[in-house]
Amino acid sequence: YRAKSLGKGRYTLFDQEMYEQTLRLTQLESELHYALEHREFELYYQPIVSLTTDQLAGFEALIRWKNPKRGFISPIEFIPLAEDTGLIVAVGDWVLREACQQLTDWLQKFPEAANLKMSINLASHQIREPDLLDKLDAILAETGVNGSSIRLEITESTLMDQGEQTIAKLAQLRARNIQLSIDDFGQGYSSLSYLHRFPINILKIDRAFVSQMSDGGENIEIVRTITMLAHTLNMSVVAEGVETEQQVEILKKLGCEFGQGYLFSHPLTASAAEQAIANSIQAIVI
Ligand code: C2E
Ligand code: MG
Ligand code: MG
Ligand code: MG
Repeated sequence: YRAKSLGKGRYTLFDQEMYEQTLRLTQLESELHYALEHREFELYYQPIVSLTTDQLAGFEALIRWKNPKRGFISPIEFIPLAEDTGLIVAVGDWVLREACQQLTDWLQKFPEAANLKMSINLASHQIREPDLLDKLDAILAETGVNGSSIRLEITESTLMDQGEQTIAKLAQLRARNIQLSIDDFGQGYSSLSYLHRFPINILKIDRAFVSQMSDGGENIEIVRTITMLAHTLNMSVVAEGVETEQQVEILKKLGCEFGQGYLFSHPLTASAAEQAIANSIQAIVI
């Protein structure tokens, strides 16, 4: 490439970095194809806890990629790439089916946990996909999951990007009793005056606000305001990234219904999550 013509060894640092970045992305893309075919993905499940009852309310399914050569690759790295290449549709289909199948298995094993909800992240590509509803219907029928047991998480920017068509799509999801969450709320640029037009059930407050809440801090007021806004719009609130008891105390005072974060649990393997369900049922019975 061009910098090379300047003479042997005369790559600028910038070119070298760009080259390496491009190479890495190209390799990752083909490895992503391979990973799908060879089942290198796995779902982890992070507990979401009711702050009113302190009980397990559900899980968020979070994808993990264990690549034999590179080791663990974070979704923060490969999900955007999967979005750019369109591979997210195939990856997302796998996630939907896997998470629903897992929920069915758990509900069959633990009838007492009938209210458990499974939250699943949906990329903006997936919302735009014309097939989404047909696929979801097929997955729900195949796995026997009720729409009301799943929550689809959509980021704020996805919501705001897409206008009338998205609203129609969301309404069709709601018609199946599927619950809808806004993910990472506060990170993007929502038009607050638009929020009421979306048929959303749950608002997840971005971890950046939660982690910087301390007594008397400004972020408390932000979280308070977001919670009040959500309640006004008949939405429940999940606080993301809860890491300390102090945060739980504040969130409870603010009337936030649910918490998720390392204080309660890191994302768990399927078998560890199953153990968490078993434990929570025991806790209720005793
Ligand atoms: P997200 O949907 O906002 O998921 C929450 C992220 O916060 C997860 O990171 C989780 O491990 C992390 N987290 C949870 N509690 C804490 C805490 O107390 N402190 C801190 N520092 N972090 C916490 P993860 O699993 O690395 O996922 C990152 C993002 O990748 C997700 O953010 C989501 O946007 C995306 N993602 C993950 N799985 C999927 C998927 O199946 N489909 C799609 N489209 N996106 C996914
Ligand atoms: Mg999420
Ligand atoms: Mg989030
Ligand atoms: Mg996030």
